[in-house]
Amino acid sequence: MTARHPFLLTPGPLALDAEVRAEMQFDMGSRDVSFKKITERVRGLIVDLLDARGGYSAVPIQGGGSYGVEAALASFVGTSDRPLVCINGNYGERILKMLQIRGINAVSIVAPSDQSFPMTKVAACLEEDPGITHLCFVHCETTTGVVNPLRPMVELATRHGVRTIIDAMSSFGAVEISAREVPFDVLVTSSNKCIEGPPGVSFVVASLETLDSKTSETNSFVLDVRDQWRNFEQTGEWRSTPPTHVVQACAKALEELAIEGVVRRGERYASVRDAVIRATGPYASPLLDPRDRSPVCLALTARDVVRTQEDLDALYAHLVEYNLYIYTKLHLPTRSFRIGCMGCIDPMWIRLLGIAFEDFFSASFDESGSHPGRRITDLWKKAI
Ligand SMILES: *Cc1c(COP(=O)(O)O)cnc(C)c1O
Repeated sequence: MTARHPFLLTPGPLALDAEVRAEMQFDMGSRDVSFKKITERVRGLIVDLLDARGGYSAVPIQGGGSYGVEAALASFVGTSDRPLVCINGNYGERILKMLQIRGINAVSIVAPSDQSFPMTKVAACLEEDPGITHLCFVHCETTTGVVNPLRPMVELATRHGVRTIIDAMSSFGAVEISAREVPFDVLVTSSNKCIEGPPGVSFVVASLETLDSKTSETNSFVLDVRDQWRNFEQTGEWRSTPPTHVVQACAKALEELAIEGVVRRGERYASVRDAVIRATGPYASPLLDPRDRSPVCLALTARDVVRTQEDLDALYAHLVEYNLYIYTKLHLPTRSFRIGCMGCIDPMWIRLLGIAFEDFFSASFDESGSHPGRRITDLWKKAI
């Protein structure tokens, strides 16, 4: 049987490059010198891609992106701190939830999820509340694909002597970030977004000053970024078993990212995004203004047809017949659904998406009662 990989148009996990996937065929000893070298390479590449050499360190954490975010919050926000969380989507909300679970007295500002975060609100809040210690925000809010203003946020926080903790999960690798130009304190990303690796490891990148600042008061072993960092520095090893195969693949993926370059990767995703807009154009429209759109994923609305989760379930099931996989959940506040533009996307998938949309949305039935588009589906199925 020839198995065809699903055509993933999801904002992570995503379609892997064959060479990246092939790295997972090797078994390695997690404490062997050869694996330590791979870990060191991964950490170095991340620091280099952020233009952060000399002042920062990348600390890998076992687990998906949320583990990295929670580790950063647990390690760098103390119980007496007062962080401000900017929320314009699900991942901002998650940061607030993580802080609340830890019993931290966080302040939050909620803004519309279909616009870039309004700086004036952040400035006013920092002005009014001098007790704020940290500014936490999401760079690219994957909920809608909106890009939030990284540089102005960090500059504003710096002027107020406030530390920055940035969820850059879906921006690192496709949107340029330079620690030299935008000196953030802590930034988190993960293996399975624009790095184009498999899921399973996250990265907390922190300034050396932040890592060195005090002995950890984290009430967790696995989420303790400082302790993990010290261990890497002293022994080159992970404290507990790492996902070796994932880290190996991630090293390969980062090497490919370094060759392609962040700018070119961003351009590649943007051209996928624009091709998706053209292919689906007759039936669905982008939620965001062009200036707020990231290249990494696209939120679409089709308000007459896709109004509820059940409607999206029907579209999803229809697309699966074409081997196409989009994100499953409808974002209720905006009634939008998401298509990922990251990973090894074949242009043919986007043409197929256009055909599948046409089939779904031209919901007219011919005299025989069968859906006219079905014929295309059947032809396609024979082809696989
Ligand atoms: C993917 C993502 C996360 C983390 O999600 P996981 O499912 O835990 O990997 C966090 N923030 C943003 C902005 C993301 O895109």
